[in-house]
Amino acid sequence: MLQLANTSIQARLEGIQAAMAMACQRADRPTMPTLIAVSKRQPLDRIEALLALGHRHFGENQVQEAQEKWPELKQRYPDIVLHLIGPLQSNKVKQAVALFDVIHTIDREKIVDALVQETKQQPLHYLMQVNIGEEEQKAGIAPQQAETLWQYAASKGLLLSGLMAIPPAGEAPGPYFALLAQSAQRLATHELSMGMSDDFESAIRFGATYIRVGTALFGERNA
Ligand SMILES: *Cc1c(COP(=O)(O)O)cnc(C)c1O
Repeated sequence: MLQLANTSIQARLEGIQAAMAMACQRADRPTMPTLIAVSKRQPLDRIEALLALGHRHFGENQVQEAQEKWPELKQRYPDIVLHLIGPLQSNKVKQAVALFDVIHTIDREKIVDALVQETKQQPLHYLMQVNIGEEEQKAGIAPQQAETLWQYAASKGLLLSGLMAIPPAGEAPGPYFALLAQSAQRLATHELSMGMSDDFESAIRFGATYIRVGTALFGERNA
């Protein structure tokens, strides 16, 4: 974990970007992943500080919380790209589609159906969440069912562009990142949303194209 506790948002952002560049260089990767600033339960002034620095990719894990802060910010900064990285309930699909640009958490047929209904006019960018550690309490489709759901979405005209996962807490994440990358390869897709504050450098080594960083960038969240 980057030790940036008492530094400004700008210093944190620069520290993370430098660590990202280093990880890419070590992995012999020509392109940097996209850094998603995970702004859930963060005070608005920290978000504003990042916007003022030109950062535009943000992630939220709850539709309702996102609705409270982002409509106004998106009006002021039309090039914001907002990512939904938490579970999506079917009764929130309409609101989610109106606000978010990328949904990382497609994990069942019912959500595919609801999205197909809602997004005929305005297609978004979608990733499928895989429960890569097969943990009971975690969202995401079981790894063995990923291909079936992928094909189901394709058959309904919902184009998925990659996979997202959160490895089990307290274990070395590398093997899980590798598994997700293998699944993506089998599905012939290349977007990989993986890696958080503690493990984004490892995720980059395994091919992450999106990393989702909260506390290392903003500091601790509100309870
Ligand atoms: C909160 C959250 C993150 C960011 O976690 P940090 O440890 O604060 O970087 C990343 N991904 C998801 C899905 C999250 O819910």
